Amino acid sequence: MRKKIKDIAQWLNIDIEELEGYGENLVTGVSIDTRTLKEGDLFIPFRGEKTNGHKFVQQAFEKGASCSLWLKDEPNPPKNVPLLFVEDSETALQQMARMYREELKATFIGITGSNGKTSSKDILASLLSPYYKVQKTIGNFNNELGLPLTILSLDEDTEMAVLEMGMSGFGEIEFLSTLAKPHYAIITNIGEAHMQELGSREGIAKAKFEIIKGLDPEGVLFYDGDEPLLRALVEKTPKLKSKAFGFQSGNDLRICEIETTEKGSRFMVEGDLNGEFFIPILGKHQVKNASGAMLVAKSIGLSDEQIRKGLEQVSLTNMRMQLVPLGDILFINDAYNAAPTSMKAAIEFLQSTSMRNDKWLVLGDMLELGEKERQFHEELADYIDGEKISRVCLFGPRMEWLYHRLSPRFSGRLLYTKDDYGKIVDYIKQYATKDTLILLKGSRGMKLETIINDLQ
Ligand code: ATP
Ligand code: MG
Repeated sequence: MRKKIKDIAQWLNIDIEELEGYGENLVTGVSIDTRTLKEGDLFIPFRGEKTNGHKFVQQAFEKGASCSLWLKDEPNPPKNVPLLFVEDSETALQQMARMYREELKATFIGITGSNGKTSSKDILASLLSPYYKVQKTIGNFNNELGLPLTILSLDEDTEMAVLEMGMSGFGEIEFLSTLAKPHYAIITNIGEAHMQELGSREGIAKAKFEIIKGLDPEGVLFYDGDEPLLRALVEKTPKLKSKAFGFQSGNDLRICEIETTEKGSRFMVEGDLNGEFFIPILGKHQVKNASGAMLVAKSIGLSDEQIRKGLEQVSLTNMRMQLVPLGDILFINDAYNAAPTSMKAAIEFLQSTSMRNDKWLVLGDMLELGEKERQFHEELADYIDGEKISRVCLFGPRMEWLYHRLSPRFSGRLLYTKDDYGKIVDYIKQYATKDTLILLKGSRGMKLETIINDLQ
Protein backbone atom coordinates (compact mmCIF):
# COMPACT_ATOMS: atom_id res chain seq x y z
CA MET A 1 0.00 0.00 0.00
CA ARG A 2 0.92 3.65 -0.41
CA LYS A 3 -1.18 5.98 1.67
CA LYS A 4 -0.70 9.32 3.36
CA ILE A 5 -1.06 9.39 7.13
CA LYS A 6 -3.96 11.80 6.69
CA ASP A 7 -5.81 9.26 4.51
CA ILE A 8 -5.40 6.63 7.17
CA ALA A 9 -6.59 9.08 9.81
CA GLN A 10 -9.68 9.56 7.70
CA TRP A 11 -10.25 5.78 7.50
CA LEU A 12 -10.13 5.73 11.28
CA ASN A 13 -12.30 8.83 11.78
CA ILE A 14 -9.43 10.69 13.39
CA ASP A 15 -9.40 14.48 13.17
CA ILE A 16 -6.64 15.64 10.80
CA GLU A 17 -5.96 18.53 13.20
CA GLU A 18 -4.44 16.00 15.59
CA LEU A 19 -1.73 15.03 13.11
CA GLU A 20 0.54 18.00 13.85
CA GLY A 21 1.85 18.40 10.33
CA TYR A 22 2.61 14.72 9.73
CA GLY A 23 -0.44 14.24 7.50
CA GLU A 24 1.43 14.19 4.18
CA ASN A 25 3.94 11.50 5.25
CA LEU A 26 3.69 8.19 3.43
CA VAL A 27 2.70 4.84 4.91
CA THR A 28 3.82 1.87 2.82
CA GLY A 29 2.79 -1.07 4.99
CA VAL A 30 1.40 -2.23 8.32
CA SER A 31 3.22 -4.20 11.00
CA ILE A 32 2.28 -5.65 14.38
CA ASP A 33 5.77 -6.90 15.21
CA THR A 34 8.89 -4.72 15.36
CA ARG A 35 11.09 -7.73 14.58
CA THR A 36 9.69 -7.84 11.06
CA LEU A 37 8.74 -4.17 10.71
CA LYS A 38 9.92 -2.51 7.50
CA GLU A 39 10.73 1.12 6.88
CA GLY A 40 7.55 3.06 6.13
CA ASP A 41 5.27 0.67 8.02
CA LEU A 42 2.52 1.84 10.32
CA PHE A 43 3.02 0.04 13.64
CA ILE A 44 0.09 -1.38 15.59
CA PRO A 45 0.76 -2.07 19.27
CA PHE A 46 -1.46 -4.70 20.91
CA ARG A 47 -2.04 -4.79 24.64
CA GLY A 48 -2.11 -8.41 25.71
CA GLU A 49 -2.00 -10.19 29.05
CA LYS A 50 1.71 -10.89 28.88
CA THR A 51 3.12 -7.96 26.95
CA ASN A 52 2.09 -4.46 26.14
CA GLY A 53 2.98 -3.60 22.54
CA HIS A 54 3.26 0.07 23.45
CA LYS A 55 6.65 -0.79 24.92
CA PHE A 56 7.87 -1.35 21.35
CA VAL A 57 6.56 1.85 19.77
CA GLN A 58 9.85 3.67 20.28
CA GLN A 59 11.73 0.77 18.71
CA ALA A 60 9.31 0.81 15.77
CA PHE A 61 10.20 4.43 15.07
CA GLU A 62 13.91 3.64 15.38
CA LYS A 63 13.42 1.01 12.69
CA GLY A 64 11.79 3.56 10.40
CA ALA A 65 8.07 3.23 11.13
CA SER A 66 6.10 5.98 9.38
CA CYS A 67 3.65 6.23 12.28
CA SER A 68 2.08 4.22 15.04
CA LEU A 69 -1.32 3.65 16.56
CA TRP A 70 -1.67 4.39 20.28
CA LEU A 71 -4.52 3.34 22.54
CA LYS A 72 -6.36 6.33 23.95
CA ASP A 73 -6.21 5.04 27.53
CA GLU A 74 -2.54 4.12 27.42
CA PRO A 75 -0.49 6.66 29.47
CA ASN A 76 2.63 8.55 28.38
CA PRO A 77 2.46 8.68 24.59
CA PRO A 78 5.85 9.69 23.15
CA LYS A 79 6.18 13.24 21.84
CA ASN A 80 7.30 14.43 18.39
CA VAL A 81 6.36 11.26 16.53
CA PRO A 82 3.23 10.68 14.44
CA LEU A 83 0.68 8.81 16.54
CA LEU A 84 -2.88 7.92 15.67
CA PHE A 85 -5.00 7.55 18.80
CA VAL A 86 -7.58 4.74 18.69
CA GLU A 87 -9.93 2.89 21.05
CA ASP A 88 -8.90 -0.63 20.10
CA SER A 89 -5.99 -1.99 18.06
CA GLU A 90 -7.77 -4.95 16.49
CA THR A 91 -10.80 -2.90 15.45
CA ALA A 92 -8.54 -0.23 13.96
CA LEU A 93 -6.59 -2.83 11.98
CA GLN A 94 -9.80 -4.32 10.63
CA GLN A 95 -11.23 -0.91 9.78
CA MET A 96 -8.10 0.02 7.81
CA ALA A 97 -8.30 -3.26 5.89
CA ARG A 98 -12.00 -2.72 5.18
CA MET A 99 -11.38 0.76 3.78
CA TYR A 100 -8.36 -0.32 1.73
CA ARG A 101 -10.32 -3.27 0.34
CA GLU A 102 -12.93 -0.85 -1.02
CA GLU A 103 -10.25 0.99 -2.99
CA LEU A 104 -8.68 -2.09 -4.55
CA LYS A 105 -9.66 -3.13 -8.06
CA ALA A 106 -8.38 -6.70 -7.69
CA THR A 107 -10.50 -9.81 -8.06
CA PHE A 108 -10.76 -11.40 -4.62
CA ILE A 109 -10.85 -15.14 -4.03
CA GLY A 110 -11.65 -16.39 -0.52
CA ILE A 111 -10.85 -19.96 0.51
CA THR A 112 -12.20 -21.75 3.56
CA GLY A 113 -12.68 -25.41 4.55
CA SER A 114 -11.47 -27.79 7.24
CA ASN A 115 -8.43 -29.00 5.30
CA GLY A 116 -6.71 -27.90 2.17
CA LYS A 117 -7.02 -24.12 2.38
CA THR A 118 -3.31 -23.44 2.06
CA SER A 119 -2.86 -26.17 -0.54
CA SER A 120 -5.75 -24.84 -2.66
CA LYS A 121 -4.47 -21.30 -2.28
CA ASP A 122 -1.00 -22.28 -3.45
CA ILE A 123 -2.35 -24.26 -6.42
CA LEU A 124 -4.73 -21.52 -7.56
CA ALA A 125 -2.16 -18.73 -7.14
CA SER A 126 0.29 -20.78 -9.13
CA LEU A 127 -2.25 -21.33 -11.95
CA LEU A 128 -3.07 -17.63 -12.19
CA SER A 129 0.45 -16.21 -11.80
CA PRO A 130 1.61 -16.44 -15.44
CA TYR A 131 -1.36 -14.33 -16.55
CA TYR A 132 -2.10 -11.92 -13.70
CA LYS A 133 -0.38 -10.09 -10.92
CA VAL A 134 -1.29 -12.39 -8.04
CA GLN A 135 -0.82 -11.97 -4.31
CA LYS A 136 -1.83 -14.52 -1.70
CA THR A 137 -2.04 -14.97 2.04
CA ILE A 138 1.45 -15.39 3.40
CA GLY A 139 1.74 -18.60 5.41
CA ASN A 140 -1.29 -19.09 7.56
CA PHE A 141 -2.35 -15.47 8.10
CA ASN A 142 -5.99 -16.43 7.85
CA ASN A 143 -7.77 -15.18 10.97
CA GLU A 144 -9.25 -11.92 12.26
CA LEU A 145 -5.78 -10.37 12.43
CA GLY A 146 -4.04 -12.26 9.63
CA LEU A 147 -6.64 -11.55 6.98
CA PRO A 148 -6.68 -7.74 7.52
CA LEU A 149 -2.87 -7.74 7.56
CA THR A 150 -2.86 -9.67 4.30
CA ILE A 151 -5.28 -7.22 2.69
CA LEU A 152 -3.18 -4.27 3.83
CA SER A 153 -0.10 -5.90 2.32
CA LEU A 154 -1.65 -6.03 -1.17
CA ASP A 155 -0.26 -3.72 -3.85
CA GLU A 156 -2.60 -1.27 -5.58
CA ASP A 157 -2.01 -2.97 -8.91
CA THR A 158 -2.62 -6.53 -7.73
CA GLU A 159 -5.10 -8.20 -10.04
CA MET A 160 -5.85 -11.38 -8.11
CA ALA A 161 -5.88 -11.65 -4.33
CA VAL A 162 -6.07 -15.25 -3.14
CA LEU A 163 -6.97 -15.27 0.54
CA GLU A 164 -7.23 -18.05 3.09
CA MET A 165 -9.98 -17.76 5.72
CA GLY A 166 -9.74 -19.84 8.87
CA MET A 167 -12.04 -20.11 11.84
CA SER A 168 -12.69 -21.83 15.12
CA GLY A 169 -16.31 -20.85 15.75
CA PHE A 170 -19.53 -19.46 14.30
CA GLY A 171 -19.53 -15.93 12.91
CA GLU A 172 -15.82 -15.81 12.14
CA ILE A 173 -16.02 -16.69 8.44
CA GLU A 174 -18.93 -14.28 8.02
CA PHE A 175 -16.78 -11.57 9.53
CA LEU A 176 -13.78 -12.34 7.33
CA SER A 177 -15.87 -12.71 4.21
CA THR A 178 -17.76 -9.45 4.65
CA LEU A 179 -14.40 -7.78 5.13
CA ALA A 180 -12.73 -9.31 2.05
CA LYS A 181 -15.87 -9.38 -0.15
CA PRO A 182 -14.68 -12.18 -2.43
CA HIS A 183 -15.81 -12.53 -6.04
CA TYR A 184 -15.05 -16.23 -5.89
CA ALA A 185 -15.34 -18.37 -2.77
CA ILE A 186 -14.10 -21.92 -2.24
CA ILE A 187 -15.11 -24.41 0.46
CA THR A 188 -12.50 -27.15 0.17
CA ASN A 189 -14.16 -29.72 2.43
CA ILE A 190 -15.82 -30.37 5.77
CA GLY A 191 -13.81 -32.26 8.35
CA GLU A 192 -13.93 -32.72 12.08
CA ALA A 193 -11.58 -30.00 13.27
CA HIS A 194 -13.19 -27.54 15.75
CA MET A 195 -15.92 -30.00 16.73
CA GLN A 196 -15.50 -28.65 20.22
CA GLU A 197 -16.86 -25.20 19.35
CA LEU A 198 -19.28 -26.18 16.59
CA GLY A 199 -20.88 -29.29 18.03
CA SER A 200 -21.23 -31.40 14.89
CA ARG A 201 -20.21 -31.74 11.25
CA GLU A 202 -23.49 -29.93 10.40
CA GLY A 203 -22.27 -27.07 12.55
CA ILE A 204 -18.91 -27.05 10.82
CA ALA A 205 -20.57 -27.01 7.38
CA LYS A 206 -22.80 -24.10 8.40
CA ALA A 207 -19.86 -22.16 9.76
CA LYS A 208 -17.87 -22.60 6.52
CA PHE A 209 -20.94 -21.74 4.46
CA GLU A 210 -20.93 -18.30 6.08
CA ILE A 211 -18.43 -17.43 3.37
CA ILE A 212 -21.37 -16.65 1.07
CA LYS A 213 -22.38 -13.78 3.38
CA GLY A 214 -19.65 -11.59 1.96
CA LEU A 215 -19.68 -13.00 -1.55
CA ASP A 216 -20.13 -10.43 -4.32
CA PRO A 217 -23.75 -10.45 -5.63
CA GLU A 218 -22.38 -11.67 -8.98
CA GLY A 219 -19.95 -14.01 -7.24
CA VAL A 220 -19.70 -17.78 -7.41
CA LEU A 221 -19.24 -20.40 -4.69
CA PHE A 222 -17.07 -23.44 -5.49
CA TYR A 223 -17.50 -26.34 -3.11
CA ASP A 224 -16.75 -29.98 -2.38
CA GLY A 225 -19.69 -31.57 -4.15
CA ASP A 226 -19.03 -34.96 -2.56
CA GLU A 227 -20.09 -33.51 0.80
CA PRO A 228 -23.86 -33.90 1.26
CA LEU A 229 -23.92 -31.28 4.00
CA LEU A 230 -22.65 -28.65 1.57
CA ARG A 231 -24.97 -29.80 -1.21
CA ALA A 232 -27.92 -29.42 1.17
CA LEU A 233 -26.89 -25.88 2.10
CA VAL A 234 -26.44 -24.92 -1.56
CA GLU A 235 -29.87 -26.30 -2.43
CA LYS A 236 -31.42 -24.21 0.33
CA THR A 237 -29.91 -21.04 -1.21
CA PRO A 238 -31.61 -20.80 -4.62
CA LYS A 239 -30.13 -17.48 -5.74
CA LEU A 240 -26.56 -18.56 -5.12
CA LYS A 241 -24.38 -19.21 -8.16
CA SER A 242 -22.30 -22.26 -7.48
CA LYS A 243 -20.12 -24.96 -8.95
CA ALA A 244 -19.19 -28.30 -7.40
CA PHE A 245 -16.01 -30.36 -7.71
CA GLY A 246 -15.12 -33.85 -6.54
CA PHE A 247 -15.22 -37.52 -7.37
CA GLN A 248 -18.95 -38.13 -7.63
CA SER A 249 -21.11 -37.78 -10.70
CA GLY A 250 -23.23 -34.65 -10.67
CA ASN A 251 -20.24 -32.43 -9.94
CA ASP A 252 -19.45 -29.68 -12.44
CA LEU A 253 -15.91 -31.00 -12.47
CA ARG A 254 -15.50 -34.70 -11.80
CA ILE A 255 -12.23 -36.52 -11.19
CA CYS A 256 -12.52 -40.00 -12.66
CA GLU A 257 -9.12 -41.64 -12.44
CA ILE A 258 -5.91 -41.05 -10.53
CA GLU A 259 -2.55 -42.68 -11.05
CA THR A 260 0.27 -41.99 -8.59
CA THR A 261 3.95 -42.01 -9.46
CA GLU A 262 7.07 -40.96 -7.53
CA LYS A 263 6.68 -37.58 -9.22
CA GLY A 264 3.04 -36.85 -8.51
CA SER A 265 -0.51 -37.57 -9.61
CA ARG A 266 -1.85 -38.05 -13.11
CA PHE A 267 -5.62 -37.78 -13.32
CA MET A 268 -8.57 -37.54 -15.71
CA VAL A 269 -11.41 -35.05 -15.35
CA GLU A 270 -14.80 -34.58 -16.98
CA GLY A 271 -17.20 -31.66 -16.99
CA ASP A 272 -16.18 -27.99 -17.22
CA LEU A 273 -12.66 -29.22 -18.07
CA ASN A 274 -11.84 -32.44 -19.82
CA GLY A 275 -8.92 -34.75 -20.35
CA GLU A 276 -5.72 -35.75 -18.61
CA PHE A 277 -3.83 -33.53 -16.16
CA PHE A 278 -0.72 -33.93 -14.00
CA ILE A 279 0.20 -32.30 -10.70
CA PRO A 280 3.55 -32.87 -8.96
CA ILE A 281 1.83 -33.50 -5.61
CA LEU A 282 0.74 -36.69 -3.91
CA GLY A 283 -2.62 -37.76 -2.58
CA LYS A 284 -6.17 -38.06 -3.78
CA HIS A 285 -7.16 -35.21 -1.48
CA GLN A 286 -4.65 -32.90 -3.14
CA VAL A 287 -6.03 -33.81 -6.55
CA LYS A 288 -9.40 -32.77 -5.20
CA ASN A 289 -7.99 -29.44 -4.04
CA ALA A 290 -6.49 -29.05 -7.50
CA SER A 291 -9.88 -29.70 -9.10
CA GLY A 292 -11.42 -26.83 -7.12
CA ALA A 293 -8.61 -24.51 -8.15
CA MET A 294 -8.99 -25.64 -11.79
CA LEU A 295 -12.69 -24.79 -11.78
CA VAL A 296 -12.02 -21.31 -10.43
CA ALA A 297 -9.22 -20.71 -12.93
CA LYS A 298 -11.54 -21.80 -15.72
CA SER A 299 -14.30 -19.46 -14.51
CA ILE A 300 -11.78 -16.62 -14.42
CA GLY A 301 -11.08 -17.31 -18.07
CA LEU A 302 -8.04 -19.57 -18.37
CA SER A 303 -8.18 -22.24 -21.06
CA ASP A 304 -7.86 -25.98 -20.35
CA GLU A 305 -4.42 -25.85 -21.93
CA GLN A 306 -3.23 -22.97 -19.75
CA ILE A 307 -4.48 -24.82 -16.70
CA ARG A 308 -2.82 -28.06 -17.80
CA LYS A 309 0.54 -26.33 -18.18
CA GLY A 310 0.13 -24.42 -14.94
CA LEU A 311 -0.63 -27.52 -12.87
CA GLU A 312 2.64 -29.11 -13.89
CA GLN A 313 4.51 -26.19 -12.28
CA VAL A 314 2.74 -26.19 -8.92
CA SER A 315 4.68 -26.57 -5.70
CA LEU A 316 3.19 -26.53 -2.22
CA THR A 317 4.34 -24.88 0.96
CA ASN A 318 6.62 -27.31 2.88
CA MET A 319 5.42 -30.28 4.90
CA ARG A 320 2.28 -30.95 2.90
CA MET A 321 2.64 -34.38 1.34
CA GLN A 322 6.21 -33.44 0.55
CA LEU A 323 8.53 -36.15 -0.74
CA VAL A 324 11.83 -36.18 1.16
CA PRO A 325 14.44 -38.79 0.15
CA LEU A 326 16.90 -39.53 2.95
CA GLY A 327 19.53 -42.05 1.98
CA ASP A 328 17.58 -45.07 0.83
CA ILE A 329 14.46 -44.17 2.74
CA LEU A 330 11.72 -42.10 1.18
CA PHE A 331 9.62 -39.90 3.49
CA ILE A 332 6.30 -38.31 2.76
CA ASN A 333 6.43 -35.35 5.07
CA ASP A 334 2.88 -34.32 5.92
CA ALA A 335 3.82 -33.19 9.40
CA TYR A 336 2.48 -29.69 8.95
CA ASN A 337 -0.78 -30.59 10.67
CA ALA A 338 -3.32 -33.32 11.30
CA ALA A 339 -7.01 -33.74 11.96
CA PRO A 340 -9.12 -36.88 11.48
CA THR A 341 -10.09 -36.13 7.86
CA SER A 342 -6.59 -35.29 6.69
CA MET A 343 -5.16 -38.21 8.69
CA LYS A 344 -7.50 -40.67 6.99
CA ALA A 345 -6.77 -39.14 3.57
CA ALA A 346 -3.03 -39.52 4.10
CA ILE A 347 -3.31 -43.11 5.38
CA GLU A 348 -5.53 -43.98 2.45
CA PHE A 349 -2.98 -42.51 0.08
CA LEU A 350 -0.11 -44.50 1.58
CA GLN A 351 -2.08 -47.73 1.39
CA SER A 352 -3.08 -47.20 -2.22
CA THR A 353 0.27 -46.14 -3.61
CA SER A 354 2.53 -48.59 -5.38
CA MET A 355 5.56 -46.30 -5.10
CA ARG A 356 7.21 -48.67 -2.64
CA ASN A 357 6.24 -51.83 -0.78
CA ASP A 358 7.53 -51.41 2.77
CA LYS A 359 5.10 -48.76 3.94
CA TRP A 360 5.29 -47.26 7.42
CA LEU A 361 3.10 -44.86 9.32
CA VAL A 362 4.71 -42.49 11.81
CA LEU A 363 1.80 -40.68 13.45
CA GLY A 364 1.60 -38.01 16.14
CA ASP A 365 -1.29 -36.77 18.27
CA MET A 366 -4.15 -34.85 16.70
CA LEU A 367 -4.78 -31.83 18.91
CA GLU A 368 -7.83 -29.61 19.57
CA LEU A 369 -10.46 -32.25 18.90
CA GLY A 370 -12.59 -31.67 21.98
CA GLU A 371 -14.54 -34.27 23.91
CA LYS A 372 -14.41 -36.92 21.22
CA GLU A 373 -10.64 -36.88 20.89
CA ARG A 374 -10.28 -40.37 22.26
CA GLN A 375 -12.77 -41.77 19.77
CA PHE A 376 -11.07 -39.93 16.87
CA HIS A 377 -7.72 -41.47 17.76
CA GLU A 378 -9.12 -44.95 18.28
CA GLU A 379 -11.09 -44.88 15.05
CA LEU A 380 -7.94 -44.50 13.00
CA ALA A 381 -7.34 -48.17 13.72
CA ASP A 382 -10.23 -49.02 11.37
CA TYR A 383 -8.43 -47.28 8.51
CA ILE A 384 -5.05 -48.90 8.98
CA ASP A 385 -4.75 -52.07 6.95
CA GLY A 386 -2.31 -54.60 8.42
CA GLU A 387 -1.75 -56.16 5.01
CA LYS A 388 -0.67 -52.93 3.37
CA ILE A 389 1.16 -51.22 6.22
CA SER A 390 4.23 -52.99 7.53
CA ARG A 391 5.13 -50.89 10.56
CA VAL A 392 3.52 -48.20 12.72
CA CYS A 393 5.24 -45.74 15.07
CA LEU A 394 3.04 -43.67 17.37
CA PHE A 395 4.12 -40.51 19.15
CA GLY A 396 2.31 -38.52 21.86
CA PRO A 397 0.04 -39.09 24.88
CA ARG A 398 -3.16 -39.34 22.79
CA MET A 399 -1.70 -41.92 20.45
CA GLU A 400 -1.68 -44.37 23.34
CA TRP A 401 -5.39 -44.87 22.60
CA LEU A 402 -4.61 -45.93 19.06
CA TYR A 403 -1.69 -48.01 20.30
CA HIS A 404 -4.04 -50.18 22.39
CA ARG A 405 -6.35 -50.66 19.41
CA LEU A 406 -3.54 -51.64 17.09
CA SER A 407 -1.39 -53.79 19.30
CA PRO A 408 -3.26 -57.09 18.77
CA ARG A 409 -2.94 -56.75 14.98
CA PHE A 410 0.51 -55.18 14.78
CA SER A 411 2.38 -57.12 17.40
CA GLY A 412 6.12 -57.01 16.73
CA ARG A 413 5.82 -54.13 14.27
CA LEU A 414 4.42 -51.37 16.43
CA LEU A 415 6.28 -48.75 18.44
CA TYR A 416 4.78 -46.34 20.95
CA THR A 417 6.44 -43.42 22.67
CA LYS A 418 4.86 -40.59 24.62
CA ASP A 419 7.51 -37.98 23.83
CA ASP A 420 10.83 -39.49 22.73
CA TYR A 421 11.71 -38.70 19.11
CA GLY A 422 14.96 -40.62 19.59
CA LYS A 423 13.11 -43.92 20.01
CA ILE A 424 11.52 -43.52 16.61
CA VAL A 425 14.78 -42.44 15.02
CA ASP A 426 16.49 -45.57 16.39
CA TYR A 427 13.63 -47.78 15.24
CA ILE A 428 13.86 -46.38 11.72
CA LYS A 429 17.64 -46.89 11.70
CA GLN A 430 17.17 -50.48 12.79
CA TYR A 431 14.37 -51.63 10.49
CA ALA A 432 14.17 -49.39 7.41
CA THR A 433 15.23 -50.87 4.09
CA LYS A 434 15.80 -49.67 0.52
CA ASP A 435 12.11 -50.21 -0.09
CA THR A 436 10.80 -48.17 2.85
CA LEU A 437 8.30 -45.36 2.42
CA ILE A 438 7.43 -43.49 5.62
CA LEU A 439 4.43 -41.21 6.01
CA LEU A 440 4.99 -38.64 8.75
CA LYS A 441 1.90 -36.94 10.10
CA GLY A 442 0.70 -35.25 13.29
CA SER A 443 -0.59 -31.94 14.59
CA ARG A 444 1.69 -28.92 14.34
CA GLY A 445 2.39 -29.04 18.09
CA MET A 446 3.92 -32.53 17.76
CA LYS A 447 6.72 -31.32 15.44
CA LEU A 448 7.22 -34.71 13.83
CA GLU A 449 9.63 -33.26 11.26
CA THR A 450 12.13 -33.42 14.13
CA ILE A 451 12.49 -37.10 13.26
CA ILE A 452 13.69 -36.33 9.73
CA ASN A 453 16.02 -33.62 11.04
CA ASP A 454 17.48 -35.95 13.68
CA LEU A 455 18.03 -38.69 11.11
CA GLN A 456 19.94 -36.36 8.81
P1 ATP B 1 -4.85 -24.90 8.43
O1 ATP B 1 -6.25 -24.87 8.99
O2 ATP B 1 -3.86 -25.50 9.37
O3 ATP B 1 -4.43 -23.61 7.83
P2 ATP B 1 -5.30 -25.79 5.73
O4 ATP B 1 -6.78 -25.87 5.58
O5 ATP B 1 -4.63 -24.59 5.20
O6 ATP B 1 -4.89 -26.02 7.23
P3 ATP B 1 -3.39 -27.41 4.30
O7 ATP B 1 -2.32 -26.71 5.02
O8 ATP B 1 -3.51 -27.21 2.84
O9 ATP B 1 -4.78 -27.09 4.99
O10 ATP B 1 -3.30 -28.96 4.58
C1 ATP B 1 -3.31 -29.43 5.92
C2 ATP B 1 -3.31 -30.92 5.94
O11 ATP B 1 -4.51 -31.45 5.40
C3 ATP B 1 -2.20 -31.54 5.13
O12 ATP B 1 -1.80 -32.64 5.86
C4 ATP B 1 -2.86 -31.94 3.83
O13 ATP B 1 -2.22 -33.03 3.22
C5 ATP B 1 -4.25 -32.31 4.30
N1 ATP B 1 -5.28 -32.02 3.29
C6 ATP B 1 -5.23 -31.05 2.36
N2 ATP B 1 -6.36 -31.02 1.64
C7 ATP B 1 -7.17 -31.98 2.13
C8 ATP B 1 -8.49 -32.46 1.79
N3 ATP B 1 -9.19 -31.89 0.81
N4 ATP B 1 -8.99 -33.49 2.52
C9 ATP B 1 -8.29 -34.06 3.50
N5 ATP B 1 -7.05 -33.66 3.86
C10 ATP B 1 -6.48 -32.64 3.19
MG1 MG C 1 -3.59 -23.10 6.15
